[in-house]
Amino acid sequence: MTKRVVLIGHPVAHSLSGAMQQAAFDHLGIDARYELWDRAPLALAEAISEIRADDDFLGANVTIPHKERVVPHTDRQTEEAHATGAVNTITRDGKRLVGHNTDVAGFKVALDKLVGRQKMPRTAVVLGAGGGSRAVIYGLIREGFQRIVVFNRHLHRAESMVKHFSRSAAHMDLRAMPWHESIIEAELAKTKILINATSIGLGTDETPVPAEILTGDLLVLDLVYGGTRLLRDAEKAGCTTSDGGSMLLHQGAAAFQLWTGEDAPLDVMQAALDEARGKGVVSAEGEPAAPEPAA
Ligand code: NDP
Repeated sequence: MTKRVVLIGHPVAHSLSGAMQQAAFDHLGIDARYELWDRAPLALAEAISEIRADDDFLGANVTIPHKERVVPHTDRQTEEAHATGAVNTITRDGKRLVGHNTDVAGFKVALDKLVGRQKMPRTAVVLGAGGGSRAVIYGLIREGFQRIVVFNRHLHRAESMVKHFSRSAAHMDLRAMPWHESIIEAELAKTKILINATSIGLGTDETPVPAEILTGDLLVLDLVYGGTRLLRDAEKAGCTTSDGGSMLLHQGAAAFQLWTGEDAPLDVMQAALDEARGKGVVSAEGEPAAPEPAA
């Protein structure tokens, strides 16, 4: 019987995960199909019940806008899912569903790649306060960062995220600040790492911060996959840069390992991502999908 894994999101069209995960199943001869389920928030509970009731499902991925909302629908959460308050992967344990957050593992790989052989910095500026940002903040706290400033368009969302992390961040300085260019500039002058965890730059040539406030000593990570304007500006300014590609690959590899018990074939998954992008698929997990081309 063919096993099933679903990506639940709204929207989910053009997901890069579909190509990446299906290639991994096929490569290892695992009889499984990766399906895309577009479910609006009101249909989330029913989708989860369907997965729970049928053990043909190995599990699921969960993406925008459900990562936080799905948590109470799982029976148990791993430490990462509990700590972030966000679930991007579900596995089954009999009829019980376990919520994981493999974005945390994906972010760790991306951060290590960005920092390279340099000493791990202790201060960061993070733009955005959604599901992706939660994995970033948790990863930075766990890495021993001592000061993290979060900017978000809607300040209250950043404030409630900071509150969520109050216990795990009790020993350090985690704070939300209003999104004003001058405040971001002042904070960037005091920090070493800038992380874009907003969806600005996704499918558009917009950037969250003007090029003039980027200085060459910054390490810049954009969770958005591909050559964004932020990264182009940062490179011109002499910064060290990385895009969301390694986070996407490694969160997917960790999910694959959880569903199948097999090591993920990273090369095969990377090739599938490259091929899908070559065909013009632009959305990574958590991204709003590109609109359907006109008929
Ligand atoms: P959410 O929808 O949970 O959060 C979106 C974030 O972007 C919010 O902080 C939102 O601010 C901000 N934002 C969106 N549009 C604007 C705008 N026009 N101006 C200012 N801020 C804006 O999404 P996720 O956190 O899940 O994903 C965010 C980004 O991170 C996406 O681009 C996604 O692709 C990427 N990502 C990449 C991953 C990877 O593996 N590479 C993994 C996870 C995410 P507000 O709250 O004010 O609306």
